[in-house]
Amino acid sequence: ENLRELLLSRIHDVPDYPKPGVMFKDITPLLADAQAFGALTDALVDLCERCDADKVVGLEARGFILAAPVAVRAGVGFVPVRKAGKLPGATLSQAYDLEYGTAEIEIHADALAPGDRVLVIDDVLATGGTAEASLKLIRRAGAEVAGVAVLMELGFLPGRERLEPALEGAPLAAL
Ligand code: 5GP
Repeated sequence: ENLRELLLSRIHDVPDYPKPGVMFKDITPLLADAQAFGALTDALVDLCERCDADKVVGLEARGFILAAPVAVRAGVGFVPVRKAGKLPGATLSQAYDLEYGTAEIEIHADALAPGDRVLVIDDVLATGGTAEASLKLIRRAGAEVAGVAVLMELGFLPGRERLEPALEGAPLAAL
């Protein structure tokens, strides 16, 4: 529909970034467009309310930008999941496989409480590895996964299939 077309028209394809052969989805034109960013935020707030979330987790770094206005508008707290070594307090960390090598993400150990229902927000679902690891962190922190929302899913990568088991029935929304 209209929202989807508006958003897609503001995401630019950048060839060979960050390395040759990769087509990077650049969301900065969307962020710079008040109407598009506002409409995206509205849609994510709606989702947050429908899945009854009481915390929003943003995945570093673009997930922070998308998730923060949603948290404020929905009246729920924002919690960052960061790359290893960036959070100052005691953390839980989760390693996951990349195409070549591994990566590690972290959450503050006391950021979530048992019974919290968490909506995870990020810009792009590629292989699904980052989102999958974030769901493990949320559950290890004692909280419940209310859903995952991404701006876009890269259709040629099996991100949704990789993430599916970790969702344990929670919804994955791609706009
Ligand atoms: P995954 O773990 O699903 O393979 O990769 C997803 C993570 O990498 C997300 O945090 C996302 O921000 C980033 N990412 C991977 N490819 C792209 C891309 O083409 N565009 C943008 N904006 N982010 C990407």
